[in-house]
Amino acid sequence: MLSALTRYFVIIAVAFIAAFIVLSLWGPEWAIAAGIFVLSIPLVYAYINLARLRKFILADSVENMPLPSGFWEEVFFRLQRLVRNLKQRIRSIEQQHDHFIEAFQASPNGIVMLDENDQIEWCNGIAERFFGLIFKRDVMQRINFLIRRPEFIQYLNRRKFEEPLLLERMGPDSSLSLMLQAFPFGQKRHLLLIQDVTDLQKADAMRRDFVANVSHEMRTPITVLMGFLETVQSLDLKKDQQDQYFDMMMSQAQRMKSLVEDLLTLANLEANALPATNTEVKLQTLMALLKNDAEALSQGKHSFNFDIHSSANLLGDEREILSAFSNLVSNAIRYTPDVGSVNVAWNVNDQGRGEFSVADTGPGIASEHLSRLTERFYRVDRSRSRDTGGTGLGLAIVKHIANRHQAQLIIESTPGRGSTFTLRFPKDRLRS
Ligand code: ADP
Repeated sequence: MLSALTRYFVIIAVAFIAAFIVLSLWGPEWAIAAGIFVLSIPLVYAYINLARLRKFILADSVENMPLPSGFWEEVFFRLQRLVRNLKQRIRSIEQQHDHFIEAFQASPNGIVMLDENDQIEWCNGIAERFFGLIFKRDVMQRINFLIRRPEFIQYLNRRKFEEPLLLERMGPDSSLSLMLQAFPFGQKRHLLLIQDVTDLQKADAMRRDFVANVSHEMRTPITVLMGFLETVQSLDLKKDQQDQYFDMMMSQAQRMKSLVEDLLTLANLEANALPATNTEVKLQTLMALLKNDAEALSQGKHSFNFDIHSSANLLGDEREILSAFSNLVSNAIRYTPDVGSVNVAWNVNDQGRGEFSVADTGPGIASEHLSRLTERFYRVDRSRSRDTGGTGLGLAIVKHIANRHQAQLIIESTPGRGSTFTLRFPKDRLRS
């Protein structure tokens, strides 16, 4: 292919030759005209190609334009290549951008990008939900106009972002606790990261309540015990009076022992591995043990029925299952007044699930308490629970053991008529 300069000389040479031939044939005026005509051919060609180029550029379709031949082919070809490369780069940048957005959207945390004036440049769906924002509507709005909580506005104004900020009662139904922190990036811009710490806060509150409850439960018998000790020490008591005090001290010590034992049971349940799914627990043996203990605890004051309606056995941890069952039976005895009756039954229901139920003719429980009975230290009647040697942890233990065996604890009760506590085990926890 000829270079542009060579072409230029070729055209001039052709113009001269044409002018020379015309000069010798028709004279100098025609020779000048012929020279100008030959020289103007590439100009016209260039003009036509420039016009084509303009048309394609205006139509934004340089890539599809047909290539002319010669010198212009190279110009058009390079232009097409440049446009193609640019488009490719834009596409890959767009793809990268989309990937970043997808990743930020997939984050379980809220993310908000703020410019140097704290205007929202971008936020993900979680941040929209946390703060009630709508990105399309709120883009480039100042965030302090949209989140009007004074502590947040103070946090933004103070510009001390080393510490996170806890915002409570946030979210659509004001039920969320959010931990928010701003991180500087780029030029005076900030990334707000927002984490939902509702569950952590709840767990923390529960732990604090639990410690406070345990301390309170322990302090009462210790105080009473110390009072008795001081009395015995300081007063010159007769033998039978002393024995009376020792009995009372023993019952307080017993109460502390039960509390510590229940706390240890709960701690073990939390720490131990899940119960095996292939160890068979014989219901016959279990019922016999429960019956013995129940009669000893009742001391003949209640009437009992222990019925086994199914030969199916349970798969799980024997100690845990016995502990759950005996907690229910002992509650029924402790809360049912003398001459009441307690019916204990093992059954497989129509859906093939195993049901262990304890029904009593005790005082029953008002419906507003039912959902809270399995909370640690929750009691309907505090003094009645204490009088009967309760720790307030029995049903929490039962519920825990039920969960570990994928069982449900169902409580039905009618005040004044009695209660039925049922543990319903799934099919795959049974062996016929
Ligand atoms: P406690 O050691 O106080 O018995 P539990 O966790 O076993 O603690 O029971 C929680 C509360 O549920 C009890 O304080 C009592 O008010 C109520 N409760 C449990 N079982 C019965 C029952 N069979 N009849 C009536 N109330 C019951």
